[in-house]
Amino acid sequence: MQLEDEALYFVPLGGSEQFGVNLNAYIYDNQILLVDCGIGFADERFPGIDLLLPDPAFLKERKEDIVGLIVTHAHEDHVGAVAYLWERFGCPIYTGEFTAAVLEHKFRDEGLKNVPVKAVDPQARVNIGPFDVQFVSVAHSVPNSFSLIIDTPQGRIVHSGDWNLDPKPVLGAPTDEKTFKDAGAQGVLAYIGDSTNAEVPGRAGSESDVEKGLEKEFKNCTGRIAVTIFSSNIGRVKSIVRAAKKCGRDVGVIGRSLHRMVGVAHSCGYLDDIPDLLNAEDLGFLPDDKVVMIVTGSQGEYRSALAKIARGDHRDVTLNKGDTVIFSSREIPGNERDINAVKNNLTAAGIAVITPRDTENVIHVSGHPCQDEIAEMLGWLRPQIVVPVHGERTQLDAHARFARACQVQNTIIPVNGSLIKLAPGKAETVDHIETGLLAVDMKRIIPADHPSIIARRKLQYTGVIHISIVMDAKGKVVGDLKTNLIGLIDQETAESQIQDRLEDEVFALIDDMTWEERLDDHFVSEELRIGVRRFMVHTLGIKPNTTVHVIRI
Ligand SMILES: [Zn+2]
Ligand SMILES: [Zn+2]
Repeated sequence: MQLEDEALYFVPLGGSEQFGVNLNAYIYDNQILLVDCGIGFADERFPGIDLLLPDPAFLKERKEDIVGLIVTHAHEDHVGAVAYLWERFGCPIYTGEFTAAVLEHKFRDEGLKNVPVKAVDPQARVNIGPFDVQFVSVAHSVPNSFSLIIDTPQGRIVHSGDWNLDPKPVLGAPTDEKTFKDAGAQGVLAYIGDSTNAEVPGRAGSESDVEKGLEKEFKNCTGRIAVTIFSSNIGRVKSIVRAAKKCGRDVGVIGRSLHRMVGVAHSCGYLDDIPDLLNAEDLGFLPDDKVVMIVTGSQGEYRSALAKIARGDHRDVTLNKGDTVIFSSREIPGNERDINAVKNNLTAAGIAVITPRDTENVIHVSGHPCQDEIAEMLGWLRPQIVVPVHGERTQLDAHARFARACQVQNTIIPVNGSLIKLAPGKAETVDHIETGLLAVDMKRIIPADHPSIIARRKLQYTGVIHISIVMDAKGKVVGDLKTNLIGLIDQETAESQIQDRLEDEVFALIDDMTWEERLDDHFVSEELRIGVRRFMVHTLGIKPNTTVHVIRI
């Protein structure tokens, strides 16, 4: 694909059709600035896979042209894929100090050394190739989040990252209104913005209200309390600790990712003004009504602390009848089933479950802007073009519609891979770049449509049959037939007769072959394969993946 010299393009390579896997590219004069590189969570369409990554295939031939990667904040959908994909970019990384500390752990986990990460202060201006970037502090549900004002010779872009207009964040300053207004006064070509809550009227609310809401909730509880949150939500950790203190309860932290995030937050000085948090073992010595635990697993993740506690297999923590679990989080679309499994286990054990829907009290606020906040931002910036990103098609559509209602002249709804020419001339989608997803398999990264994943998907529905048959040079069967049925029948019951009948069928099929046919290995295995599948369709209505191995002696 030919890119025009001195033209300015925007390409979302991930995150503009789904939540997660954010990867964005700005291209000016054939030089590329990447923004964010996050993971997505795999669902049951990807058996054996937990994590998905954006596929940066487009950048493969252009590695030399990548001038930098900016990570706007430390949420997994923005930072989670960096350690997996950085070697394909090989460029310097620019991010806030908290996110840099989170990244350092991830690089260590992946055995990566000497990755050039430059920690950037709020308000800093950094020249990255032809891009002059200002990092603007925004309120969000993780510390040290930035929007980017990107100046190029073709005009100014504002890349929002994730943000809201919390008037009183618990951690850090409110969104830097003045800087956005100043940027707007000087003229903004394009706003590339967070669409998560574009369908939701009103405002996201304030984290400081959560502290009050949780305090009221805690006062109603008599037993132990567990609160589950996103582990990166350090502001929420503070809210919980303050609310617990007012109720005379001590707070402990359960779960590996929470321990890591709290550790990073401590090292960056974000938790200096709260008392030390306890470990699971310490909590065991406290009376039930003196305990609040913060636990990982708000999305029902099977291996998380909360899911283990709910199943009764957590090593250090048990919850019993009369205890309470509070979901101080939202359900990410797609995770409902896993979350319900956890809730069902808790409820069955007599543990009360409270979600934001079950109470009048504010126990969660979104980190993303609702319509009134988006209207304010667009009022400050007055951009010529709005490109909605970060959401499914429904949210992107709603964002574009809303922007038009706010008098924005040109809105361009992208899909992953849309090559949008922003300037010079009329801004429009001029081409489409092939994009996709990568999957993190046990020890390798493979395309999400890799044959192994497609086969796993099929096998989980169809089961497998292996047959080995030994024949002599004259076409006579020698010894026993070996049949192996996987994922099809229960051998301990009368169903085992199906295997016997299948073996009879194999012999019948061989009897029907002429002696010449029996000497042809390929013919024998193919006839048996088709016949076995036909037999299974008649018997169980399933067409198993079948292999037949003819051994000739
Ligand atoms: Zn975020
Ligand atoms: Zn996000």
